Amino acid sequence: MKIVLVQGDITEQRVDAVVNAANSSLMGGGGVDGAIHRRGGPEIVEECRALRASRYGKGLPTGQAVATTAGRLPARWVIHTVGPVYSRSEDRSHLLASCYRESLKVADALGAGLVAFPAVSTGIYRWPLDDAARIALTAVRQAGSAVAEVRFVLFTSAAYAVFEDTLRALG
Ligand code: ADP
Repeated sequence: MKIVLVQGDITEQRVDAVVNAANSSLMGGGGVDGAIHRRGGPEIVEECRALRASRYGKGLPTGQAVATTAGRLPARWVIHTVGPVYSRSEDRSHLLASCYRESLKVADALGAGLVAFPAVSTGIYRWPLDDAARIALTAVRQAGSAVAEVRFVLFTSAAYAVFEDTLRALG
């Protein structure tokens, strides 16, 4: 698997699947979630609403992932995953790693070869970037997925720099 880092807006990526840092309601929110729904249009939230009604009455659990159409985004699918809120008193890193693993499982089931990820949980959910980068990069490498390319799309130059340093440090 090739791992590529870019700085940019994930809603502009021409890829097979874009991963959304959603919340468990699947009904949209701020940050990358808001950007994906704004740019992707109402088709995505309509499918999310149907998923809530059929499979996830209580919401999508933290660490899990599910796919919908990508609407008007230049991608085929959006894979929604729910990152954990960062906690200083409780180690939730297994849940953050699970977001990446489960998203890649969904991508494998879809046959997606090129998948773009944001830095899940590092915005509104406050996960420190360096720790989140280490967890993310380790999880995708160890996932054993058939995805050919994982593209991390970092919104800020600071996030890009942290991912670059972490990738180098992991060797
Ligand atoms: P969470 O609730 O999981 O923390 P956020 O959307 O608040 O999710 O933040 C996750 C990361 O996504 C943050 O690093 C934020 O800077 C970044 N982000 C926000 N908008 C975009 C975008 N359009 N493309 C890529 N990354 C984005």
